[in-house]
Amino acid sequence: MPVVELKGVSKRFGKVVASSDIDLRIEDGEYVTILGPSGCGKTTLIRMIAGILEPSEGQVLIGGRDMSGIPIEERDIGYVFQNIALFPHLNMLENVSYGPIVKDMSEEDRQTIPVRYLELVNLLDRMKVFPSALSGGEQQKVALARALASGARLLLLDEPLSALDARVRMDLRYELRRITKDLGLTVLHVTHDQEEAMTVSDRIVLMRNGRIVESNTPEMMYRAPKELFTANFIGETNLLAGVVVENRDDRTLVEVRDGTVVEAQPSKFEPGDAVVISVRPERVHALEEGLNAVVRTMSFMGTYIRITAEADSEDILGFDVPVPRGRDFNIGDNVHLGWSMASALLYPRPPGGIAEAVKLE
Ligand code: ATP
Repeated sequence: MPVVELKGVSKRFGKVVASSDIDLRIEDGEYVTILGPSGCGKTTLIRMIAGILEPSEGQVLIGGRDMSGIPIEERDIGYVFQNIALFPHLNMLENVSYGPIVKDMSEEDRQTIPVRYLELVNLLDRMKVFPSALSGGEQQKVALARALASGARLLLLDEPLSALDARVRMDLRYELRRITKDLGLTVLHVTHDQEEAMTVSDRIVLMRNGRIVESNTPEMMYRAPKELFTANFIGETNLLAGVVVENRDDRTLVEVRDGTVVEAQPSKFEPGDAVVISVRPERVHALEEGLNAVVRTMSFMGTYIRITAEADSEDILGFDVPVPRGRDFNIGDNVHLGWSMASALLYPRPPGGIAEAVKLE
């Protein structure tokens, strides 16, 4: 069964540390996304699992077997790359038949399996067409069908949707999840797109600078991120510097930079501790009292209006007001912003400053 384990895996290219002491376990049948900013080491990680790169240190195990020195063709994986590499001189059916032929499957499987997977991605009617006659989205589907037809139980997807239009990308996300779940495959999917990661995954692994920042279900990564970097990277959030003034059993009181005392979730912080408050725009409301701020921008977002307001402290806060109530606000209005204490998460203030701690490097 394709449980994937990485134990103390590091990869260096000269002085660049692309992966640093990575421990990761992906369960059989799990759909895991590796998410992170450009250059954080996602592709390096998936290439080590595929066998395209050897780790500088540590071990990659697939199904409990140490993969050191085992080439890609012997790892029994399906691999879909960012830049689809369909064979240009072969039609769709022949492209998808490649795995069953190379794997020396029975004559019957060679006939039926490619047809089954082309049908699964809704492209059976195009099976005699050559890649140049297909759209980018269709080519990606065929690349996926080809990877599935190889019979591999482990699927590695490296930015499989990034070359596509936003609309096609969204449709294919749902297809990817549906197909791989129906087939019970173990999937490792690399992306820099947090929305894509939220939609397809059972679990997100967030990376930064060659390291894993944290890993959890999409919902928990959004609702209860353990790290400030995660709170900022996944979804949108307002970050405010403050100092704890009182820690009660049911809430923490924090003084922010303009002297206003706001409420945050219960915590272990002591009075005097420097903290950062993270509160999502949909949790911030214009109230009778709260942080003084002046409306600076308003953007129509469909079902709500995203308003940004500048507080006396010069912090910029974003908040969302459903349409049509959002239309009652105007640029230049004075507002008082607040939130329920449970919506305000607290983190220790990083010594190097907030901007440095959330920087996408
Ligand atoms: P992106 O989202 O931009 O594709 P990534 O998260 O996949 O980025 P990697 O491609 O794994 O990141 O690269 C991680 C780091 O390792 C980067 O600093 C990159 O420049 C470096 N790197 C990757 N491959 C090589 C290589 N073959 N030689 C030298 N440096 C490399």
